Amino acid sequence: MKFDTAYSLSLDDKLSIYDVRDLNFDETAAYDSDKDSFLCPNDTCRAAFETGNALSTFNAKNVNYLRTPHFKNKTTTRHIDGCRYASTHKTATGENDDEREENFPSEFVLTRRTYERKTPATGTEGQVPQGPAKTPLNRTDSSVSSSDTTPDKTSVFAHPVECYVSNIDDKDKLKAMPLKIGDHTATYWAFFKKIEYLQDNKGLIYWGKIKEIKDYTSSFRIDFEKKVWLDKKPYSVNVYLSKKLIENYRKRQAFLEQIKAAVDSERPLYCFFYGVTPELKQVPSKKNPEQTFGVFSANIENLDHLIIRETPGVE
Ligand SMILES: [Zn+2]
Repeated sequence: MKFDTAYSLSLDDKLSIYDVRDLNFDETAAYDSDKDSFLCPNDTCRAAFETGNALSTFNAKNVNYLRTPHFKNKTTTRHIDGCRYASTHKTATGENDDEREENFPSEFVLTRRTYERKTPATGTEGQVPQGPAKTPLNRTDSSVSSSDTTPDKTSVFAHPVECYVSNIDDKDKLKAMPLKIGDHTATYWAFFKKIEYLQDNKGLIYWGKIKEIKDYTSSFRIDFEKKVWLDKKPYSVNVYLSKKLIENYRKRQAFLEQIKAAVDSERPLYCFFYGVTPELKQVPSKKNPEQTFGVFSANIENLDHLIIRETPGVE
C-alpha cells in the first residue's frame, strides 16, 4: 500500500513524499533521503519496533516521474496488529493502487514548510550561538502537529498537481475534493484551469500542453499550444522565466535538468503554474520591429509554483 506520510528519523517529523522530494532537490538543505530512515507514521506502531524497521520510498529522487511518488512497505517491514499501514493488499478491484494519488491536501500553503533539525548541521561558519531560535521543538506542539491523521496541507506544488493529473479520468472525484489556496476555496476541478480559458477567472492553477520551450541559455519562454480567444481573435499564450529567477532558485540544478530535458523531449509535455495570470501585451514583431502584435504573457515569479511534466491520460 501507499503511505501518505512517514516519520523521518533524521528530522524527527512526519513528511509527505513531496516534502522529501523538495528537500532532496533543495541545494540550501543538506538532506539526502537515501541517508534518512522512514518509519511508520503511527506513533504506537513505530514505538514497538527498532528504528531499522523502515519503509522504502518510490520516486523520491526522480526529477521527472510518471508514476505517483510514495512511501511503501518493504517486504520486511513489520507493523503492530491494527496499524492501518499494515495492509499489503491490492484494492478490491484489483487495481494497482500505485497509480493514483489518493491523499488530496485540502490546502496548498504558499509559504514553504521549514524543518527543525534534530541535530543542527555543522555549518561552515564555525560556532553557532545558542540563541532562543535554537530551542528544540516544544514537545506539546510537536505531538499536536504530528498526529497520525493524513496531513491536510502541503506547501509543495507537485502534490496537488499529482492529485489532479493522476485522477484526471475521475471528474466526480475532482469535483468533490475541496482545495484552498490563500483566501480562495474551490474544488480541485475548479482550481485547475486550462490555459485557453484563463480569462474566466484570475488566481487559478493554469495548465496546458506545451508547444515549444525557447531556450535562451539562461532564461526560458514556455509557449502553449492552445490559444486564447478575445474579440473573435486568437492570441498566443506564454510564460517567461527570467535568468535572475532561475539563478536564485534553491532547486536550480533540478529545475535546469527538468527544463532542459523538456526542451529536447519529443513527448507531449504540460506546464502547470500558479501565482500569475497571463495578460494581453503588445510586443514588437521580430520581422518588422515597427509593428507589434498581441500575446497573452506573464513573468513567472516563483519557480516553486511551476511544473513541467507529462500527464498520462490527458491525451
Ligand atoms: Zn505501522
